[in-house]
Amino acid sequence: MNSIKVTFNCVVRAEDLPKLHILSEGSTVNIKEVKAGKEHLYITLVNPYPIGKECYLLYGESSCLIELTDVVRTKAFDQLFYYDGEDLGAVYSENQTTFTCWAPTAIEARLVLYKNWFTEEKEIFSFRREDRGIWRFSLEGDRNLEWYHFEVLVNGAWNVAVDPYARFVSVNGERAMIGNMEETNPTHWPIALNNISKSETIIYELHIRDFTIGKNNGIRHKGLFLGLTENETVDKEGRETGLTYIRQLGVTHIELLPVNDYGSVDESNCWDSYNWGYDPIHYYAPEGSYATDPYNGYSRVNELKQLIAACHRQQLRVILDVVFNHIYIWELSHFEKLVPGYFFRHDENGNISNGTGVGNDLATERQMVQKYIVDCVCFWVKEYNIDGLRFDLMGILDVKTMQKVATAVERIKPGFFLLGEGWDLPTALAENKRATMRQAKELPTIGFFQDQFRDAIKGSTFHETNQGFCNGNGTVLSQIMGGVSGSEHLFLTPQQAIHYVESHDNHTLWDKLTLSLPGETNVLKKKRHRLATSIVLLAQGIPFLHAGQEFFRTKYGVENSYNSPDWINQFDWERRGKFEDTVEFVKGLISIRRSHRAFTFSTYSQINKHFKWIETSAHCVAYELHQVGEFGTWDRVVVIHNASIEKQGIRLPLEGDWKVLVDEHQASLIPLYTLYNAGSVKVAAFSTLVCVV
Ligand code: CA
Repeated sequence: MNSIKVTFNCVVRAEDLPKLHILSEGSTVNIKEVKAGKEHLYITLVNPYPIGKECYLLYGESSCLIELTDVVRTKAFDQLFYYDGEDLGAVYSENQTTFTCWAPTAIEARLVLYKNWFTEEKEIFSFRREDRGIWRFSLEGDRNLEWYHFEVLVNGAWNVAVDPYARFVSVNGERAMIGNMEETNPTHWPIALNNISKSETIIYELHIRDFTIGKNNGIRHKGLFLGLTENETVDKEGRETGLTYIRQLGVTHIELLPVNDYGSVDESNCWDSYNWGYDPIHYYAPEGSYATDPYNGYSRVNELKQLIAACHRQQLRVILDVVFNHIYIWELSHFEKLVPGYFFRHDENGNISNGTGVGNDLATERQMVQKYIVDCVCFWVKEYNIDGLRFDLMGILDVKTMQKVATAVERIKPGFFLLGEGWDLPTALAENKRATMRQAKELPTIGFFQDQFRDAIKGSTFHETNQGFCNGNGTVLSQIMGGVSGSEHLFLTPQQAIHYVESHDNHTLWDKLTLSLPGETNVLKKKRHRLATSIVLLAQGIPFLHAGQEFFRTKYGVENSYNSPDWINQFDWERRGKFEDTVEFVKGLISIRRSHRAFTFSTYSQINKHFKWIETSAHCVAYELHQVGEFGTWDRVVVIHNASIEKQGIRLPLEGDWKVLVDEHQASLIPLYTLYNAGSVKVAAFSTLVCVV
């Protein structure tokens, strides 16, 4: 806080050093010591540098502005300027709107006000500086529907920034709008939800546009938030589509790919481009390309809330995907403009950290970044009434921030569902501080995508031809066993284990099977595909499905379709009709899972008490859930996954009248048939069998 590094473009002689002076707003800043290094001079001040004041270094006839750089990343800076107020952004009331902006290194700041989003006609108001780097200004009167941005003078330049706390933004997020959140609630809000235990969660992941854009799906608001509010929509053959389709599948949670404002789709011309949306700009405001009117600040907010209300009316909970690991383009980010150098992680040489691989990592370990994330998450839970959050590349974030998030959301909404990608990535943060799967025990209420199980089922996502249990690899039985019994080797509770075999990332399971089994017939691929989905849906832990997985979704071999055209990404309702039997099969598995709590134990001690392996020959995994009568209709449940090319005979735990719920053709809560006095059972090749007594 009291050192200055000086770089000269000429040789400086030792005897000239006394010529150095520092002036701040006309008065001298006292220098304690000047040291010459190899390429620089290092000045130590008597007192800490007066951050927030303009200071010049004078040397003979020359002068230069002193810029604030590395100092913003010191602990001392965080301690001096941490602001814990709840009022950042624009706080609206009918009589007054108060703006609060955090920009400690700015020496001046102003509010620029516009009557609408497109006009250049503006009014400018100076902020007044308060403690802790806060700038504040109150506007009298009702300012609803007026537009604004901030301007800060920092390091000698005026930067224009949109309020990072903006709840309402204009087309492409270019300006923030003053609005009244109270006006945005749907007619019935909030909607009461039935109680379900966290361990009963079944997640279904989808993208707003993919899910509604298709032709002949009966949905009117294609590609928009409102598309998911439409009820009782049907395709040409009269089969359910849209939200009604999801409801009848039986999943409990819908997970939406990012819906907060992102940068890669031009909202004024959104049909010309497509993106998943992992390139955030505004974290507090929804994305405009999903709104009926991206120019109207209220449209996106109202319509996303309507979507959430529509899901809740169907007793479907909503998880949002949030991308707090990086920002679209860091140099252009409003964070960087307000407090240059603060919000992004840098390595020890002062270079921007890029563990995400997309150009920057947010410095979540810094106090005001952490506060931003926690505040923002709480805002979404309270204001949008969401039920869960999925943290993209959570391993970039730090453990403490995620712990704070977990505590905060649980306080607002008990049972709130948190999950994240716990991959360990090379970000400039100590390994043990990253919120990776290795730190799962420090984050006991957060779920992690379990990639070992995923890869064991279908083969590595990084090697197209690599095979797993269901596509030919008989050497991964122990990983399959670890997964089906709830992944205890990784977690503290089974709810932390997010079990999946397909998500928006990487090849769909169908495409992976095509790549890893060239020449395989479609008939066999379908069997293997069903087997993989069955393993996930019958395993202990939390099952996660990618929309369309239930009918062999394909992206025609495209591995990373984040900006591929709609025809590759869209939810193909015709394909859904073509594979109706498999949709019914998946529905059957879901209803079986939800009907008996032995499939959804919430502790490992329960699993260990009731779980028992059944001996099989190679390439087959079988187990029973015994003495489970207190959790549902049946006292014993036997699950057999046969991934071998041969029919397998498996000895059952006891001789009896075994009712079959799942076989190679069907899955049904109502038993398909009974095996009378059976002591063993035959399981078809590449299939799952579930039988109960
Ligand atoms: Ca946008």
